[in-house]
Amino acid sequence: MLIDTHCHLDAAEFDSDRGEVIARARSAGVGAFVIPAVERKAFEKVLSICGENLHCYPALGIHPMYVGDAVPEDIEALRSRALEVAAVGEIGLDFFVENYDRERQIHFFEAQLKIAREFDLPVLLHVRRAQDAVLASLRKIRVKGGIAHAFNGSFQQAGEFIRLGFRLGFGGAMTFERATRIRALAADLPMESIVLETDSPDMPPSFIGKARNSPEYLPEIAEVLANFRKMTVNEVAMATTANAREVLELE
Ligand SMILES: [Zn+2]
Repeated sequence: MLIDTHCHLDAAEFDSDRGEVIARARSAGVGAFVIPAVERKAFEKVLSICGENLHCYPALGIHPMYVGDAVPEDIEALRSRALEVAAVGEIGLDFFVENYDRERQIHFFEAQLKIAREFDLPVLLHVRRAQDAVLASLRKIRVKGGIAHAFNGSFQQAGEFIRLGFRLGFGGAMTFERATRIRALAADLPMESIVLETDSPDMPPSFIGKARNSPEYLPEIAEVLANFRKMTVNEVAMATTANAREVLELE
């Protein structure tokens, strides 16, 4: 059984066939889904999808690319829902777009880390061109751990995240031959630090072209990882599922 530790099943792309997508993913061997919100507007939808579908786990948070419209009340909304979630996320820092307000990103990131700390919740991290800045915030505001989603840092940075209690998420990116660094990380990092994800509907794996990504492709992504690690798909499934369960405290 596999766990998709990061899929945006609340996205409008799934409005017409969400139930079918989940059913197909389940019959392909994906037994659980972690659904992170990216903005306050999405909180209720994520919670209701998770209320209606077995083994769908909600995470609530404000994504760094959505903090432009965020207000302090959004942090209060997160706090008031904290007892209903599996994790705080998707939160983090994204310094890829230049001139995007970094101070504001850091402010909302750290405010949300404090909620994770207050409620002893794991965190789902979005980190783009900001590995060291995210690590600096995590050293300042100690949370119990979580997942650095779509990990794309160095081996040294991976080690820092692992020391802070984080697992590293791998998905569609490692299916591309040109992604040599991500492939090296997926092949060589300690197996106990790796979890699988799709980031659906984004990050389509190489074998589906530009089509909508979906959790039903996770088994083929797991196969790619199994090849890198010279393991069977079943061994990869058992290891990554155990890692996800442990870090997110899923039953
Ligand atoms: Zn995401």
